[in-house]
Amino acid sequence: MLKNINRIKFYKNNFIFKIVNNDIISGKHNVIRTRFPPEPNGYLHIGHAKSICLNFLLAKNYNGFCNLRIDDSNPTKIKKKYISSIKRDIKWLGFCWHGKIKYSSDYFDQIYHYALELIDKGLAYVDRMSKIDIKKFRGTLKCLGKDSPYRNQSIKENKYLFLKMKEGEFPEGSACLRAKINMKSSSVIMRDPILYRIKFAYHNQTGNKWCIYPMYDFTHCISDALEGITHSLCTLEFQENRELYNWILDNITTNFRPKQYEFSRLNLQYTITSKRKINTLITKGIVQNWDDPRLPTLSGLRRLGYTAKSIKEFCYRIGVTKQSNNIEISTLESCIREDLENKAIRTMAVINPLLIIIENLPEKHEEIITVLNHPKKLYMGTHEIIFSKKIYIDYSDFREIADNNYKRLVLGKEIRLRNSYIIKANFVHKDKDGNIISVFCTYDPNTLHRNPKDGRKISGVIHWVSAIKNIKAKFYLYNKLFNYKNPSGKNFLYYINNNSLIISRGFVELWMINAKCGEYYQFEREGYFCMDNNYIKNTSNNLSFNRIAKLKNNKYRF
Ligand code: ATP
Ligand code: MG
Repeated sequence: MLKNINRIKFYKNNFIFKIVNNDIISGKHNVIRTRFPPEPNGYLHIGHAKSICLNFLLAKNYNGFCNLRIDDSNPTKIKKKYISSIKRDIKWLGFCWHGKIKYSSDYFDQIYHYALELIDKGLAYVDRMSKIDIKKFRGTLKCLGKDSPYRNQSIKENKYLFLKMKEGEFPEGSACLRAKINMKSSSVIMRDPILYRIKFAYHNQTGNKWCIYPMYDFTHCISDALEGITHSLCTLEFQENRELYNWILDNITTNFRPKQYEFSRLNLQYTITSKRKINTLITKGIVQNWDDPRLPTLSGLRRLGYTAKSIKEFCYRIGVTKQSNNIEISTLESCIREDLENKAIRTMAVINPLLIIIENLPEKHEEIITVLNHPKKLYMGTHEIIFSKKIYIDYSDFREIADNNYKRLVLGKEIRLRNSYIIKANFVHKDKDGNIISVFCTYDPNTLHRNPKDGRKISGVIHWVSAIKNIKAKFYLYNKLFNYKNPSGKNFLYYINNNSLIISRGFVELWMINAKCGEYYQFEREGYFCMDNNYIKNTSNNLSFNRIAKLKNNKYRF
């Protein structure tokens, strides 16, 4: 059972919950309002899930509100399909945003007026330097910035030029609006940051109304203020931007004053959580799309077979801190295993088939054996398996010679077939290249579900499927996308694992003709699997399954 206790721990131990709790106790805020502000330039990933859990649960815990705000201040990156996927993924996780979806672009008129307010106060100016010069004049960490020659233009002139920018009279890149803060500030961000730039781009919410668009830093704090956000939570890379966030809000007239808090981004080992890099993987054809089951996107994880419950449990377990982290992938895997342990129907599948011929059975022998769907949950029912003269076992479950540590089928030795009889391997049939084609065995008819009468000990149980009555299946065996724990640098493509997907053809039991998408299966000794909606070839005599996770301690395969 997933522990609700982790969710409670998540509330109590998390430093942001403590801040919010104090704000409630001290009476600073009566109602908590948070927001989740994704940029619609890609699909949501597991890192976003952490932020979603934090923002939505904070609000819920204090009977407050959490807004979904699509951060669409940059018109060139927005795609409608990203917006729909964001909505779908948040709903799938089981969270509800407050009221209508908000868009940063809903506030473009107000943001424009705040820009005018700053100009009026002598706190913003239109700069006509080139992009390159602006960058040069800004300086670096070691070298202070220099004032732009346009910095001391009159307020009147700035208003006139800003209007001209808005009317589309300047070409892109020839003018921008900058805050007048301090070119000698130790923080580079505070050296007269750009507030507005010209972009002759169609916006999918505001159409062609604007040809100037506010920058993220200017848009974000104003949107927070207009929505009455009490705690504006973001990741640590925005720590330095907090000074600018506060400067803007200190210098414009709003009814509400939000506060920004930062926490560390989630990084997961052997994968990447950056939409830009994921996009590169897609455009290079390394993965198929945003919902490729190898990606840590929510749609990829869902397709792979992860449940919303397991992803939320993962977020509760890792908690929220300011420490940078690189979480082990096994933490995520153990969350899905724990969830599926209770849900998954136990059944057998042979992924790399090896034919076994049972010599002491008649040709047409078909014995039906009834087995439990779950060893501990009788209400989950039963299914039937068929024991026949020809069966398949997994290729890796047979060796001609092996020591006693190998608890599977060995020539001249016995092994138990799961839910069935004990068999003994007598001889091997090989092709002319020496590859094993089939193994001839005999079975002990007195050993169905019980030990041999003479007390001989058989150690090891292997799984099998009838070779006469079964369903063909394709198994999509997903592995790590990268060979390196921390592929986050520029040369991340160098670490791609070329074996991140292995497709294998084998067999599942006949009863699985009724298998459905949305059901979970534990293929005994192999792992947790589910059918994938995206494979069109899920016909009744050929099914496709994704491996969601290997079983715990199941290290010997692949
Ligand atoms: P990416 O680098 O993937 O594009 P981003 O921060 O630009 O990430 P946004 O869509 O702007 O993505 O993020 C929406 C919210 O989700 C922000 O508040 C952001 O801080 C948070 N977020 C994004 N990535 C992570 C992560 N890896 N861990 C925790 N929170 C994250
Ligand atoms: Mg972003």
